[in-house]
Amino acid sequence: MYHDGSCLVDFSLFDVLPQAKAEWFLAEIRQTLAENRLRIVEYTLAGEDVSEIDENAGPPGDIWFEGRVKPMRSRVDGERAVLWLASNISQRHHLETRLRQLSETDELTDICNRRHFMQILGDRLAEYDPDATAITLLIIDIDHFKPINDQYGHLDGDRIIKALIAVCVEQLDGTALLARLGGEEFAVLLSDITPSAALRIAEQLRAAVAGHRFELECGTVIPVTMSIGASVVRPFRRRLNELLRDADIALYEAKSGGRNRVVMARDPDRASRRA
Ligand code: GH3
Ligand code: MG
Ligand code: MG
Repeated sequence: MYHDGSCLVDFSLFDVLPQAKAEWFLAEIRQTLAENRLRIVEYTLAGEDVSEIDENAGPPGDIWFEGRVKPMRSRVDGERAVLWLASNISQRHHLETRLRQLSETDELTDICNRRHFMQILGDRLAEYDPDATAITLLIIDIDHFKPINDQYGHLDGDRIIKALIAVCVEQLDGTALLARLGGEEFAVLLSDITPSAALRIAEQLRAAVAGHRFELECGTVIPVTMSIGASVVRPFRRRLNELLRDADIALYEAKSGGRNRVVMARDPDRASRRA
């Protein structure tokens, strides 16, 4: 324990905490009294948030707490009251955050992994509103990567994957979600831009990689290109597997059309209207 709290006796929450924090505590207390049961809440509080205490007595910065808030049976000074038991859970919180990051991140490239990407894509599709949002999916596959691996080895292959991702991250500049689906396959989720703007971004990625100097450990510079298949969520075609299948078919077309190119999946609605 950093403070025994004796210096806070007789002060109200609003005397010692910033307004927003005091309001939050008060709302939790009211909720606990209204529900008349034990509630467990998690929150941050820093020593410097609380006036009247020696802020240097505890660790610096935000501390994560678990509060067990229980209505008291008897009244205090004629008023209903709660017992608020706070324990420092910072270590557990940071460990949980780290574990979540690890479970969502691809080890080699440090970008989003397949599982997390599919989760996010699924969530976006569930809340998809054709009048308000546009979603384009890009599936990227490095061209003729097997011969590169076979000739220069797996380690150089891995370095190329990392360098290629660095090029894409720089191009996307935080505007899209980039993930490694596995091996030398990646995906990009582009939201809230038109399909033609998404195609321009795909083309920009392709050109940036094709124009990049990929230098191996031995100093040799090799050309690396990638093919991209794109598909757009449509009002009547909005299931995850349909979107992935359309992008895969487009990627296959990009490969068979000569590689180092971007192909947009045909709009199935328009195709069936024409038929
Ligand atoms: P294509 O243009 O048709 O895509 O040809 P490709 O040779 O890239 O295609 P293919 O799928 O046959 O080969 C993919 C190769 O990628 C197989 C393997 O040598 C390599 N590969 C897959 N995952 C990894 C990885 O994590 N690291 C490295 N270094 N190589 C990988
Ligand atoms: Mg592949
Ligand atoms: Mg490939």
